[in-house]
Parts: sequence; C-alpha cells; structure tokens
Amino acid sequence: MFTYLRAILIIYSSFLYLVDANSQNINDLLLSDNYEFIDLSHPFDGNTIYWPNKQSFVYSKKVIKEMDDGTTYAENEFATSEHGGTHLDAPYHFNEKGERVGLISLEKLIVPLIIADVSSQVNDDPNFVLYKHHLDHMINDNFGKPCVIVFKFGWSKFIHNRQQYLGLGANNTLNFPGVSAEVMEWITSSYKNIVGVGVDVSSVDPGSSTSFSAHKIGAAAGLYNIENVNLNRPVPEYGCTAIVMPMKLTEGTGAPARFVALCPKKKQSS
Ligand SMILES: [Zn+2]
Repeated sequence: MFTYLRAILIIYSSFLYLVDANSQNINDLLLSDNYEFIDLSHPFDGNTIYWPNKQSFVYSKKVIKEMDDGTTYAENEFATSEHGGTHLDAPYHFNEKGERVGLISLEKLIVPLIIADVSSQVNDDPNFVLYKHHLDHMINDNFGKPCVIVFKFGWSKFIHNRQQYLGLGANNTLNFPGVSAEVMEWITSSYKNIVGVGVDVSSVDPGSSTSFSAHKIGAAAGLYNIENVNLNRPVPEYGCTAIVMPMKLTEGTGAPARFVALCPKKKQSS
C-alpha cells in the first residue's frame, strides 16, 4: 500500500517538476520574494469616512462570551452604506442597465494597475478638477491592455481629518478634487481597455459636482469606480497588478472593497 502511494507521489512530484521547469507558475512568482502586496484600502471602523447623511459603519451588535471550557466566543453584526470607505461603484450606480457588483467579472477586477500621479499639479487645492491637459505627458502606450487607472490627487494624507478630506462646508457642501467629464469621455472613447477608474478622494466627480458627469459617463461605458483608494504608501506608476475585491453583493450598486496592488519589489541599489 505504502509503496503504491509512494509511486504515485513520485509520479506526481516529477509531474510538478516538469510544470515548474517548463512554465511560469504563479505560486512560484508569489513566493519568489520579488513581489510585494501593497494594501490600497482604508480600514472599516467607526472612523471610516462616509458622506453626510449616509449610514456610517457601525457594529449593530457585538457579542463576546465566555464558554464553559474557559475559551471565548465572539461575533459581531454590522451596518454600512454601500458607498463609504474604500469601495467599488458598480456601473449600475449611475446606469440602470449596468452591471451590479455581484456580476462584475474577475477578469475586470484583477488587471494591470496604472497610477496617474497628478498630486503635484493638485497641490492640495480642493477645487482642482482634472482635465486632459493635466495628463498629456503621462498617457502613453502602456494603455494597450485591460487595466485600472487610479488618479492620485494626494488626498489620502487627509484621511484622519474628515472635515478636510471631504472639504465639508456649511449645509454639508463638499469640496475635494475630482475628474472632469472631459477626461472621462476621453478615457471611454480613446482607452476602451480601461475597465475601472480609481481615485484617492470620496468620489470620481469633484466634491462640488451636482451633475455627477464623470460617474454617468463612466457607468454608461460599463466602467466601475474605486473611491477612497488609500495611496498613503508609494505605489509604482506601472508594473503592479490591481486586485479589487468588493464584497460580492448580488444587487449591490456598490460595495466595500479590499483593494490591493501586487508589485515587483524595488531592487536595492548597490
Ligand atoms: Zn460610490
């Protein structure tokens, strides 16, 4: 019996060896120490930023009890708006014919990641609106494959100050940078390989927008958004893979998401 099992194991391991020798194995890449994960999500807790009048993240019930054998048992229940913290907007959010969260395919959620860092042009100005001319120098042929593009406005550093992050004014007006209709039209017409647009602010549209043009144009083209991306850690502009994991809400117009970049490790310069 054991000889038989050992024979199977030997055959199996030599098969694995052949696979390793002849093809790139994703597990080997992950374990090679040449790649690192960078978390692009903010945590969900009582400090998570939501728009005014939205259901903030709360634990509606917290249970922790001691068991008869001295161990403990813990279980919580929570409530949250779909659209707060680091989250995905499904196309359905602004397009009744668009996909809901649960239908967005993994092929659109795990794709090359491009970070377009415009933070030096924003220069902490909450009235900044991203137009085409801000991007002319960085649009290049790296856009050939399906990808997610994340615009870095340099806003993540304000995440611990809700007033400043949202630019909260009288009557709950909002004021933070965002993407113009012009840029979203440009993306959806000229860069059809882009499947999602991310921002390190609370909305793809500027905070002061009442028309939500960028949302509408993107949703009409089937794009999703990722909002409140955490860009407090440096992320290479090119070469990383986006792993966007929203909670699989069947009817979701949006969903809290874990957003991670898988990036080649920077080589130590000697
Ligand atoms: Zn949203």
